[in-house]
Amino acid sequence: MKPVIVVHGGAGTIVKEKEEGYRTGVKQAALKGYNILKNGGSALDAVEEAVVVLEDNPYFNAGCGSVLNEKGDVEMDAIIMDGRNLASGAVSAVRCIANPIKLARLVMEKTDHLLLTDRGASLFAKAQGVSEVPGEMLVTDRSRERWRANLKPDSNPKVSQIGLGTVGAVAIDSEGNVACATSTGGITNKMVGRVGDTACIGSGGYADNLVGATSTTGHGESIMKVVLARLIMHHMEQGMTPEEAADTALSYMKKRVNGLGGVIVISKSGDWTAKFSTNQMSWAAVKDEQMQCGIYHGENQATTIEEARVRL
Ligand code: ASP
Repeated sequence: MKPVIVVHGGAGTIVKEKEEGYRTGVKQAALKGYNILKNGGSALDAVEEAVVVLEDNPYFNAGCGSVLNEKGDVEMDAIIMDGRNLASGAVSAVRCIANPIKLARLVMEKTDHLLLTDRGASLFAKAQGVSEVPGEMLVTDRSRERWRANLKPDSNPKVSQIGLGTVGAVAIDSEGNVACATSTGGITNKMVGRVGDTACIGSGGYADNLVGATSTTGHGESIMKVVLARLIMHHMEQGMTPEEAADTALSYMKKRVNGLGGVIVISKSGDWTAKFSTNQMSWAAVKDEQMQCGIYHGENQATTIEEARVRL
């Protein structure tokens, strides 16, 4: 099997000045994941490491750069899933953790549970030797400004709350195993304790070797109502391509609950797509030694992996 990785950096609207930063960020993450796959690494390691790169990049709404809740604090959700055996691990409403995706993987591998939240997740992190970082280290000037702007009574929560910059990855490795990972700070000015789609299996992501894998982004409550990731898997089980499944599920979410979002999808045979119903979504993919990336509908910039390695 030829390895393939696809990553996204969140669905929403990206301002012009930030475009290059988003493009570079998703390409760096895709390259990191692809290098792991090329060296015989697993899809699971590739998606985890790709997401770590994005969590560490303050441009994105995950790890450092996460949006703030109504009290001005960072609370993050993350999920990882292994297509071999449907094992998954997730954390929700976690604070002071630099890489929630790593904690989600520990939940998958070291507990009998699928999801740990808030205090329990933090106790588990301590027990596993995951070090805490000061909460302020995860807060950027941009997220603080956004939070302030959203406190104004005339702000439009439906538009401004989408946390643009949630990150995710899907991959298939040389053994044909698929995996997904998604990580986010959620939506801006959310209530304390709000758990979004990202932490919920079947909403923020899903991976099954018999079908493929997907990672989602967008308005979490809408995604949860239609169980977007599993809905896409269902359409693929019924014979749709990743592209058809993504389009069908996203337009269903729009029609049925007026929700917008974006998805990356890979099939068990390595076909992939990146689709969104928002204005933009940053994404990058590597397959057959070709790096592709885009932000706008219909955009697809392609380079060889060698060129990408030199430039990034
Ligand atoms: N889906 C995320 C959430 O609602 C936000 C996003 O993807 O922008 O928590």
